[in-house]
Amino acid sequence: MPITPVVWSPDTRRHEPRHEVWVGVPTPGTEVAARVDAILDAVGPGRELVEADPYAAEALHAVHDRGLVEFLRTAAARWADGPYEELVGQSRVVPYVFPTPALLSGMPPTPPTALHGLAGQFGYDTMTLVGPGTWEAALAAAGCALTAARLVADGAPTAYALSRPPGHHATPTGYGGSCYVNNAALAAQSLRDAGHARVAVVDVDAHHGNGTQAIFWERADVRYGSLHVDPAAGWFPHVFGHAGETGDGDGAGATRNLPLAEGTGDAAWLEAVHALAEWVADCDALVVSLGVDAAADDPESPLEVTAAGYHRAGRILGGLGLPSVLVQEGGYHLPSLGGLVTAYLEGHEAGRVVGV
Ligand SMILES: [Zn+2]
Repeated sequence: MPITPVVWSPDTRRHEPRHEVWVGVPTPGTEVAARVDAILDAVGPGRELVEADPYAAEALHAVHDRGLVEFLRTAAARWADGPYEELVGQSRVVPYVFPTPALLSGMPPTPPTALHGLAGQFGYDTMTLVGPGTWEAALAAAGCALTAARLVADGAPTAYALSRPPGHHATPTGYGGSCYVNNAALAAQSLRDAGHARVAVVDVDAHHGNGTQAIFWERADVRYGSLHVDPAAGWFPHVFGHAGETGDGDGAGATRNLPLAEGTGDAAWLEAVHALAEWVADCDALVVSLGVDAAADDPESPLEVTAAGYHRAGRILGGLGLPSVLVQEGGYHLPSLGGLVTAYLEGHEAGRVVGV
């Protein structure tokens, strides 16, 4: 059985969201640092632990706009300079004005000078707060994905990146959905740079990875396929993830979305995994956006996949025999989180050896 190295970084624990602001109400954050240890405790035994290489902010420019990277790097310190904590007791960066087309009305905007005005230029929701340690954790999460991609480029058949915070909702220019930096997209680009001509990203997280889709929307060299709870049923990210979205320009046909009904369990979920696996079988390398929040116990989605389902998904995708970087995305039920990730990894490892 091939041993999948587990790439992690202690700095991924440094982001403390404290709360999310959902429909105006602060609710306890679910994307907590304890996720790192829940996963590490489960997947660590029997596998090589590799600490992520250090990366500088410039490494993120491979898939992100420089303005976003600079905002994330500096926002927490600028916010701490005040007056937000003294004035309203808010220690986290929270946007409140968003320069959507409704505001801009076709006119060229002048960049806001106040930080609370600027935040909405980069943060596209109110659930994804920036505080002390957020940047360090996001950069470390990216480092996990990039190091895992390096291991695979160097010949490892598979590597797992324990990236936290997750990344697949981060767009070229924006953060949201508990994601700041798109770890999976960085891994995919890194595999391209290492010489893999066609890279596939298969996203099994319960939610559509709008950020990854956006990054590769007009590219033919990186295919993006996702199965997720139907955004038309009222689920994040609401405006993307529909079956009609298939890419544009050079990337026409290189995006594929399989939205699933609330309550979907193993059988229909695995059919969708199968369909995406067939769709990417002719690629040269694979990135799996490994969210396990499609599981029945997860508080963030209404899908009802079991640990056996995740194991089977690993068999299917591992059975493709492609060099594979597995990047952690969502998964928020702490008691079952580690077991679900382990189930997928064991499935992927078995699939590499004996096929589907
Ligand atoms: Zn998710």
